[in-house]
Amino acid sequence: MRTTHWIGGKPWNGVAERAGDIYDPATGQIAGHVDFATAAVVDQAVAAAGEAFTRWRTASLAQRSNVMFAFRELLNARRPELAEIITAEHGKVLSDAAGEIQRGLENVEFACGIPQMLKGGFSENASTQVDVYSIRQPLGVVGVITPFNFPAMVPLWFAPNAIACGNSVVLKPSEKDPSAANFLAELFAEAGLPDGVFNVVHGDKEAVDRILEHPAVKAISFVGSTPIARYVYETGTRNGKRVQALGGAKNHMVVLPDADLDLAADAAVSAGFGSAGERCMAISVVVAVDPVGDALVGKISERIAALQVGDGRRPGCEMGPLVTGAHRDRVVSYLDAGRAAGAELVVDGRSHPIDGERAGFWLGPTLFDHVDTDMSIYTDEIFGPVLSVLRVPSYDDAVEVVNTNRYGNGTAIFTNDGGAARRYQNEIEIGMVGVNVPIPVPVSYYSFGGWKDSLFGDAHAYGPEGVNFFVRSKVVTSRWLDPSHGGVNLGFPQNS
Ligand code: NAD
Repeated sequence: MRTTHWIGGKPWNGVAERAGDIYDPATGQIAGHVDFATAAVVDQAVAAAGEAFTRWRTASLAQRSNVMFAFRELLNARRPELAEIITAEHGKVLSDAAGEIQRGLENVEFACGIPQMLKGGFSENASTQVDVYSIRQPLGVVGVITPFNFPAMVPLWFAPNAIACGNSVVLKPSEKDPSAANFLAELFAEAGLPDGVFNVVHGDKEAVDRILEHPAVKAISFVGSTPIARYVYETGTRNGKRVQALGGAKNHMVVLPDADLDLAADAAVSAGFGSAGERCMAISVVVAVDPVGDALVGKISERIAALQVGDGRRPGCEMGPLVTGAHRDRVVSYLDAGRAAGAELVVDGRSHPIDGERAGFWLGPTLFDHVDTDMSIYTDEIFGPVLSVLRVPSYDDAVEVVNTNRYGNGTAIFTNDGGAARRYQNEIEIGMVGVNVPIPVPVSYYSFGGWKDSLFGDAHAYGPEGVNFFVRSKVVTSRWLDPSHGGVNLGFPQNS
């Protein structure tokens, strides 16, 4: 199977100078190839998007939302096919792939209501017989660059709002699981989106760098690891573009002594090992406030032992493989590093039973206890099924740990004390907070984004902030049909 670019409403028909392998993570076998775009191919996509923009920007709001409604219906009807594509290339279990499509659909539904979001203000008679009003206009061609871990949902965080606002899009998805993006492109075409409004280029740094420097690209939405997010933000803004770049994470779940420990243990296991820990909102650190550590570690260990790890297409499997062999090996290296640094390896994922082919990119769930903040298993984003338990004497120490961490994506507190929860949501320096909710991904009519090294730029993704990102406002001051005029006046306009 070969996955190629989608430019101007159809698959690209050129011959690629470079290509990458696509793996089936559950078997470890090469399942296909993906063309890598050169700068010249990116230029073709940007040109197609630029041409389409000249017409799409004037499409009525009714037409734009009708296309979005049609896209929503198609995506909803065909989600099982898309889930199969995601699982085949990413490895996550089918139910989890269906879950990411559902969260993506919510953003499509939000974009269906775009006329409501694009309303401006109007002030009649701001000055005598002068009206003032604001309008919100699209930017032009926007670049969307996305990570491997949500190959459908993250593109759907951005593309529907960008398009509904009247922009055209060039999407550069992850080269590790590129085919979901093409499926979305086909559905957009079927939904009646004009050719060239949604384009896909595949590839790596070469394609990204051309998007970052292309003068016709006006804005960039990026999601990925922190070093690349920082690079994309710095390079894109230096080139005069509007950029939002969402980076990596280390999400802490604080468990207070009064918490329901069964609920907390369920949540830690679900949020730590779902999608094999390859979620930017995964819980990777449990901060156990004394004296809950022993009981909590016991309950988490029991639940880990019962987890079914295997091929995500097999019924009953709860956790699939990691995305590539190289990534699995990197994650495994932290198991030895953590033990060498003095953490207690309570559950070693290498010995977990696996229901799958030997050559797959497997690692079972791993649990460390007595982790310190100077260990690499704590400081680094591992992005795999490795959960660390850190023990602290008090609530204040827990807050100190979380606020000192360089990342600020998500966090959760587990407690039955409403006052403590309220204090936590006020004091914690994190963009998304859960109270007895381990993965507090905002619904589509709020916005998603972290603080500190988890976000570069001012605008969070999707929801109202996402819409703001994809438009620029203009204020019109107008006077009509006023037969009187005061003649020439060189003074600065004043209201009267
Ligand atoms: P990544 O940073 O390796 O890649 C992201 C994108 O950047 C891909 O499209 C990739 O092709 C491109 N890229 C990679 N190296 C590049 C380079 N040197 N120059 C230019 N472009 C480059 O991230 P990933 O491994 O695909 O995804 C996992 C990361 O994404 C994790 O760090 C995770 O926390 C993060 N993530 C964050 C969020 C969030 O909302 N904050 C959401 C999902 C994933």
